[in-house]
Parts: sequence; structure tokens; C-alpha cells
Amino acid sequence: MLGYCSNSPLRCENARSAKILNRMDACCPECGLFLLPAQDVSQQLRADEQFLRYAVLAVALVLFIAVYIYYSNFV
Ligand SMILES: [Zn+2]
Repeated sequence: MLGYCSNSPLRCENARSAKILNRMDACCPECGLFLLPAQDVSQQLRADEQFLRYAVLAVALVLFIAVYIYYSNFV
């Protein structure tokens, strides 16, 4: 996984330089602490944004259909 060292910048060289590390075990090679994901977060944000957009579209569509049915029945 790609990520930054989660250690304090005072304690680890990789955290100080905010270097993106690519490690299979998700641990910093310098200090052994877990990495903060660098790539996964942005992908998650993009997926959330897309989901919100579809949710808003779905709500608008349901409202439109409800209004259409209401008017076609009672006007
Ligand atoms: Zn580190």
C-alpha cells in the first residue's frame, strides 16, 4: 500500500520528509509504525462524492415522479 509514515516528524526521517512509501506490510521501513494511506483516501473520497451525487439525483427523481403522479391523479 502507498502511504505516509504515521510517526512524529521528530522521531522518523520518513515522517519529516512526508515521503510516500510503497510497502506491502503497511509499515514504515525506518521506525516500523503503520502508514497513513495516501492513495486509498482520495479514492474513497471520490467514491463518496459519486455516491452523494447519485443519491441526490435519485431523491430528485422520486420527488418528480411523486409530483407527476399527484398532478395526474388530482388535477
Ligand atoms: Zn517512520
